[in-house]
Amino acid sequence: MPDHGLTEKGAAMRLAELMALRQRIAAGVLVSLTERCPLSCAHCSTAATRLGRDLDEAALLGFLRTFTSADRPDVLMLTGGEPLLRPGLVIEAATAARSRGTRTAVLSGAFFADGGPLPSTVREVARAVDHFSLSLDAFHERYVPRRNVFDVLDALLGTGVHVSLHLLADGPADPYPDEVGAQVRRRFGTDVPMLVGQVRPVGRGGTLRPRPRPPAGPDPWAAAPCDMAAWPVVTTDGAVTACCNQDVADRRVRPGHLGLGDIRTTTWQTVRERARARPMLRMIRTVGPVHIATRAGLPADGYCATCHRLDGSDAAREWTDRAGTGPAGELLQSAAVHRGEAGGPAALVARHGPARHAHLVDPGQGPAVRPRQEHTP
Ligand code: SF4
Repeated sequence: MPDHGLTEKGAAMRLAELMALRQRIAAGVLVSLTERCPLSCAHCSTAATRLGRDLDEAALLGFLRTFTSADRPDVLMLTGGEPLLRPGLVIEAATAARSRGTRTAVLSGAFFADGGPLPSTVREVARAVDHFSLSLDAFHERYVPRRNVFDVLDALLGTGVHVSLHLLADGPADPYPDEVGAQVRRRFGTDVPMLVGQVRPVGRGGTLRPRPRPPAGPDPWAAAPCDMAAWPVVTTDGAVTACCNQDVADRRVRPGHLGLGDIRTTTWQTVRERARARPMLRMIRTVGPVHIATRAGLPADGYCATCHRLDGSDAAREWTDRAGTGPAGELLQSAAVHRGEAGGPAALVARHGPARHAHLVDPGQGPAVRPRQEHTP
């Protein structure tokens, strides 16, 4: 088995550890540093271009300074677009977060992987962060060869940071993750866990081919909790939203019930409290938006689209206020989080991607068995 010296890494964070926190409310915060990217992958869920918008640097650093050692997220997840177009900001943000006890993960498309040595700025980023993920899929490979990505993984492992790959499958039968997964295991053993998602019909991915809108679910009265409303998300205009729904992040819709503030004016403590205690968000996590809409007499036609429609509905707000306020609402929410965490990271991944690859998130664990949810955001 390869030895990449991972015992020396201090506070570094494994992918499974990161994913184990993914359903805990406000255990992490996702930050989009930029909508820019030098690649033009056909499936890009954010439709990033070379000319996209950047998050305001001073506003972000000011927001991170509101973290305290007693009240801060466990994880700061930096994404984009391509966050490594702003390596200085990645380092500053990770350093600020680390001073409060928050660990940082970064997800890059590896545009810098040209077959040469690791660029010094990327090496500095690797020292500043606690987890370094690279994207690899058939669309990325049109710009960045797989062998170059593997060489970057080797170099990153040499710095002591924990790494992972974000792979994409184009449908449950796509053999791509099997092929790449086998190569990764041969070259890196269990040092490179893999998170396998699937191409989604959002951003440029929506233009790849006609894809149906995700169904609301077979039974509008059934509880279908949203897994994606646990970590607040900072979008490039500085708004903080309750989930990573791409239509919200891209400002196509901004439902009021998903707004948690703005990093220029809202502290982490306020964001966390709003995320944790708002009855509407509690019930979205507990029974899901379709059930709420059905209770409120609203039509349901798509999972997240139904959620967006809850905005401004007095009937939805009255029902969620009744069900989700106070200690009873808190208890319902805790039970839902607990249920969602059952089965660990692989079960969570299996609900949102091809189930047969979910165990790759935690090499050494057995395959996950729960089938994918049809209403993933
Ligand atoms: S249902 Fe969709 S829009 Fe609503 S909180 Fe969940 S991910 Fe966001």
